[in-house]
Amino acid sequence: MSNETFYRDSWAEVELSAIENNIRSLQERLKPGTGIYAVVKANAYGHGDVQVAKEALQAGAKGLAVSLLDEAIRLREAGIEAPILVMGWTRPEDAPIAAENAITVTVFQSEWLGEVSAQTLSHPLKLHMKWDTGMGRIGIRSTEEMDQLLQLIRQTNHLSLEGVFTHFATADEGDSTYHSKQEARFEELFSHFERVWPENVEFHTGNSAASMRFPERMKHIVRFGISMYGLYPSSVVREERPIELRPALSLQSRLIHVKKLDPGESISYGATYQTEEEEWIGTVPLGYADGWIRKLQGMDVLVDGKRHPIVGRICMDQFMIRLDQEYPIGTKVTLIGKQDSDEITADEVADYLETINYEIPCMISYRVPRMFLRNGKMIEVDNAL
Ligand SMILES: *Cc1c(COP(=O)(O)O)cnc(C)c1O
Repeated sequence: MSNETFYRDSWAEVELSAIENNIRSLQERLKPGTGIYAVVKANAYGHGDVQVAKEALQAGAKGLAVSLLDEAIRLREAGIEAPILVMGWTRPEDAPIAAENAITVTVFQSEWLGEVSAQTLSHPLKLHMKWDTGMGRIGIRSTEEMDQLLQLIRQTNHLSLEGVFTHFATADEGDSTYHSKQEARFEELFSHFERVWPENVEFHTGNSAASMRFPERMKHIVRFGISMYGLYPSSVVREERPIELRPALSLQSRLIHVKKLDPGESISYGATYQTEEEEWIGTVPLGYADGWIRKLQGMDVLVDGKRHPIVGRICMDQFMIRLDQEYPIGTKVTLIGKQDSDEITADEVADYLETINYEIPCMISYRVPRMFLRNGKMIEVDNAL
């Protein structure tokens, strides 16, 4: 399925001790007894799902959360036995697969529950109920819907309600008006639930932003995503700095060709860049098929601890940079990460692309091998090719 070697000069480094550090720091900030679910959807935000999941569990996470049943099954196939919650939609016909693999699925529709309760399952199916308190995405919105679901769950032997959760839309913003509204809706649903369902279930509301900013308001579990990877959920939270995060991912490459061009020579498709004087131009073997999209033309990379701009259009597999001097083939190029005293962060790349930092590691495609390190030492490579 994946290889432990690779034969190219571009790779992503994932420092597992940073993930451990970020989980431990959050745990210290939470009320004692609050559990952490590590959110490892989308290949752990591009970092490598199995390795990150194992590290997170070792650092004290109680469970894992993903978006898709396929993602959960991948983790089970890797031998992970911790609780796994699928936070998104699971097709009712796939309920037996989830039950067999002890994967918890999210319930929020009585039609869905009707179909699932009519099936014969070999194992009990674990459920978390989703409440839509203002995200407007998935979840029940009223106590009537809640009662319908609870009644069906109570009537069905092979269904077991283990959790209830909601998701905040604005937990990372400075203005808390909407967030308070969501919290109030949650409390309304919560007080009804407490009256009609005496059995214990685990409640969870917080993502990275809410769990770091409002630790005292968290219930049994928090769902820790972006900040486990060392990135703040927004500039507001970055400035508040409730905990000191360490970014886990860096993106590296090497110069594979270096040449001196005369003034007036052009670079790459469309000949959009012309040299103004004699210029040293380096070629980097990474392109938009690796996730370094064409809009990053003009963005800097680090070579020799200094910034150098991407010149000309980014190609599918390669791009060119303007160098301040000649460098040997094989010189390290850092696209995300530190070199000497300078650093290009995922936040800086996100700002350049007018997007959020979440998108940046997710963009790095399957073609870029992931190298896992602990305290700077390489321990494993995952090459999907
Ligand atoms: C992705 C996701 C999270 C994690 O959010 P972060 O902001 O990355 O911490 C939590 N809950 C749900 C429902 C999600 O989809």
